[in-house]
Amino acid sequence: MFDSFGRHIEYLRVSVTDRCNYRCFYCMPDGHVPCASRDEVLNSGELTRLIGLFAALGVRRVRITGGEPLVRRDIHTIVAEVRQTPGIDDISLSTNGHLLDEQAAELRNAGLDRINVSLDSLIPDVFHTVTGHDALKRVLKGLDTAQVQGLGPVKVNTVVMKGVNDGEIGQFLDYCVPRGLELRFIETMPLNGNDVVRTRHYMPAEDILERVRTHCGTDLIPETTGRGAGPARYFRLGAGPGRVGVISAMSQHFCAACNRVRLTATGDLVLCLGHEDAVPLGRLMRDGASDRTLTQAILEGIARKPERHTFHDQPSAQPMSRLGG
Ligand code: SAM
Ligand code: SF4
Repeated sequence: MFDSFGRHIEYLRVSVTDRCNYRCFYCMPDGHVPCASRDEVLNSGELTRLIGLFAALGVRRVRITGGEPLVRRDIHTIVAEVRQTPGIDDISLSTNGHLLDEQAAELRNAGLDRINVSLDSLIPDVFHTVTGHDALKRVLKGLDTAQVQGLGPVKVNTVVMKGVNDGEIGQFLDYCVPRGLELRFIETMPLNGNDVVRTRHYMPAEDILERVRTHCGTDLIPETTGRGAGPARYFRLGAGPGRVGVISAMSQHFCAACNRVRLTATGDLVLCLGHEDAVPLGRLMRDGASDRTLTQAILEGIARKPERHTFHDQPSAQPMSRLGG
């Protein structure tokens, strides 16, 4: 599928629930966001029907996200059904890692290829401040188990927040690089009407990279090959084997190369993280729309995918836990 700016859309992020067992303050600023009712959330068959239509239109990669996808009891069924979908050749999942230790093996058996774990602090108190939970140890255990189960390369996504965890950049490098965990530092984005992350805690990627340089005492060498189709820019840490990624949605956006759209847990097709425009595929499907009608609705949505986000002018009112990151 191509959008009206000639971008090849081949990646679908599916938020399978907007519920979460954590309360990361940058994601849920007042500790709460309204959730869809259980009836509104699509069941696994409905989700995989829609994913199948995207696959028929050329989507090859699916990321399962949330909210927290591992709180869904049928998460393994969803993974297994996506695995059976003709055309989908890569299935990954983003998690906060809280339930990963006990679920990694079953996810692998269901056909999951890779996992990303969000981890914003290696200091128990700071971890608690960010997530509202005392659970650092179990997330670290989950990371180990995911590696043992072959859900790699396991990526660690760290949202860097000035005054919260920016002092831990070196600690993250020391933890992740020797273990073969692929570390990516992420700039905060103003979602859910939350401008605090942009004003008080925002740290631009260039400052993050400067901290990396200072910690490693080496030049950072931009990788030009093997970058993948994602938003991260990767840098080698001098001549050694380590590398680090940065995702700079604010300071250096990557909208021109955007290859993705998002499906919410209620089946809304969201065309851009920074715009509220969505196609209500879930509602159409429940009203009895045929595959042909749904396919037409998807194509009409793709045709109006915005050129770029407008976070600098206007924070999005949408919660990230609905959009899936
Ligand atoms: N619960 C899972 C997790 O935390 O990985 C999946 C959903 S979460 C919404 C997906 C990603 O969005 C996480 O890596 C999280 O750190 C990131 N995220 C949430 N709010 C954000 C914000 N305001 N700015 C930047 N990243 C954000
Ligand atoms: Fe939950 Fe992920 Fe949002 Fe944290 S970032 S509150 S783990 S959905």
